[in-house]
Amino acid sequence: MASDMLRFVMHEHGSTRPHYDFRLEIGGVLKSWAIPKGPSMNPAEKRLAVMVPDHVLEYIDFEGIIPEGRYGAGPVVVWDTGDFIPLDTDDPQMALTRGKLRFELKGKKLKGAFALALMKGLPKSTGKEWLLMKMKDSHAKSSYAIKTELTPKKLATLKEKDPPCETE
Ligand code: MN
Repeated sequence: MASDMLRFVMHEHGSTRPHYDFRLEIGGVLKSWAIPKGPSMNPAEKRLAVMVPDHVLEYIDFEGIIPEGRYGAGPVVVWDTGDFIPLDTDDPQMALTRGKLRFELKGKKLKGAFALALMKGLPKSTGKEWLLMKMKDSHAKSSYAIKTELTPKKLATLKEKDPPCETE
């Protein structure tokens, strides 16, 4: 059934503070994390991923320039997207509630097993600090440098567009 085909997107967001936004389709919404440095295919590079409010599913393929004056103003492009498969659980929402979710990504760039883990015991924790990690597998790379998709050529194709929900 199509219902067990879940999707992910990694948006690249050129707002005042450029970052990437990782979103997983869980429970009919996009669970979302802002990742300042973006993802890595290197298991040695754990990336801070700050949980932000859920986004609506319609946002999954959003590309455009969020207008000035709106939160998150600036260009947004789909950096990578594809299917996502929860690992070791039938209930990814519960796994998130417990603070750890392992999953496989079938993107064009992001492939293989990853994990999101809530950071516990931080001195100034807001409870929203997670780490996104590549797990060791045949897709892992020992060195990885992220490449922007917000190229001048791509930027020239983007139009100002209101997102279907508040964005971060
Ligand atoms: Mn963002």
